[in-house]
Amino acid sequence: MIETGAQPQGGKKVFVKTYGCQMNVYDSQRMTDALAADGYSATERMEEADLVLLNTCHIREKAAEKVYSELGRIREVKREREQAGGEMMIGIAGCVAQAEGREIIRRAPVVDLVIGPQTYHRLPQALRKVRAGEKVVETDYAVEDKFEHLPQPRRAEIARRGVTAFLSVQEGCDKFCTFCVVPYTRGSEVSRPVAQIVAEAERLAAAGVREITLLGQNVNAWHGEGPDGAEWGLGRLLFRLAEIPGVARLRYTTSHPRDMDDQLIAAHRDLAALMPYLHLPVQSGSDRILKAMNRRHKAADYFALIERIRSARPDIAMSGDFIVGFPGETDADFEATLDLVRAVRYAQAFSFKYSPRPGTPGAEMKGHLPEAVKDERLQRLQALLAEHQHDFTQSRAGMRFDVLIEKPGRRPGQKAGRSPWLQPVIVDETAGEIGDIVPVRIARVENSTLFGETA
Ligand code: SAM
Ligand code: SF4
Repeated sequence: MIETGAQPQGGKKVFVKTYGCQMNVYDSQRMTDALAADGYSATERMEEADLVLLNTCHIREKAAEKVYSELGRIREVKREREQAGGEMMIGIAGCVAQAEGREIIRRAPVVDLVIGPQTYHRLPQALRKVRAGEKVVETDYAVEDKFEHLPQPRRAEIARRGVTAFLSVQEGCDKFCTFCVVPYTRGSEVSRPVAQIVAEAERLAAAGVREITLLGQNVNAWHGEGPDGAEWGLGRLLFRLAEIPGVARLRYTTSHPRDMDDQLIAAHRDLAALMPYLHLPVQSGSDRILKAMNRRHKAADYFALIERIRSARPDIAMSGDFIVGFPGETDADFEATLDLVRAVRYAQAFSFKYSPRPGTPGAEMKGHLPEAVKDERLQRLQALLAEHQHDFTQSRAGMRFDVLIEKPGRRPGQKAGRSPWLQPVIVDETAGEIGDIVPVRIARVENSTLFGETA
């Protein structure tokens, strides 16, 4: 959970609390930008906010319940603020808003506004209706392009957010994995046009951003018509973005194995700015479970793909997502997942217990597993993943590579940056300025942090 906010500059204030994935972090920033155009500045203190927005996530269980319990706490803050003569509007955004709609206002009448991810550009108009006394629910899929209508952040605001930035290039998903709510909450796959993405990246770079992470629920399904009239895939787009002066590092997430095309693999081979790190979720190592999940690939296809990626970029670090305890998963299926993990050796991974999502085919399947079985499997999987992650981190000791300096360190005299593989690296504050990319030798490794000396 991430709380986003800018230094309050007077006038109306908005407090945004973000749950879930990087796409929500990006969306929260864009909502803040839309509200800035309407006179709001962001605050990190809910008590002083005229507007509280919860940007919610619906991917796993209890998401809605968490929102309702948070609303209980917010109700108290609102009451105190009103007693002191202030006002507070409350809005629910994100995937819980999309999934629950008007039900949220029925269960929590303190909420003034429910707004889905496709309609954020309508936020200022929606707030005007709220001020006029209406309860507003905006969850229709907007026909107009939301990105066309969302104001861009000011240069100072981009700079305040730091030298790394997210840029959404794709939204929604047409894959319909049987466990997943995304196709229902985020709608079908939409790619933003090349010119719009390039313009946003240029703006970020001009304000000092050095690293851009392209985002999408299925980012490598991105496609669009290039200025040459040809159909571009993500690989071609990455080459174009690398031409922008100031852009030194590019990343993208999250990818589906089926959409890893030759052009994108070639970008990993030929494009120095594309960092050697790839989040490529597989979910399970069992073909039977992959089929039941509608993942549309087998474990062998995934291995073959990783082999091609690794031969294009031998130092690439792999990251993944796993679900344990999908309906019908046997001990043998779970062992196949452990085997896959042992074969791939992920540098980093996320793993979850299967959580039935209402309205998805998985929720209706037979063979749901007891929590205790899911717990035990998750523990075993996470222990194995942690072992590999530890080995990967340790393997950086003594290595030399470039570090992007991102911010002051927690301790005096230090600055903090990231390795090409997304690991935190601590350097001496004299190593360079924030935004510099400096060659470093890793002198020691402590837990998951690398300590570098300038080479
Ligand atoms: N699009 C990505 C992909 O194809 O893998 C992932 C999108 S999803 C936001 C992030 C991760 O949440 C998934 O990769 C999956 O591991 C996990 N997830 C999604 N639905 C889930 C569910 N019902 N129960 C447990 N984990 C789930
Ligand atoms: Fe969900 Fe990813 Fe599958 Fe799409 S590809 S349905 S976002 S898990």
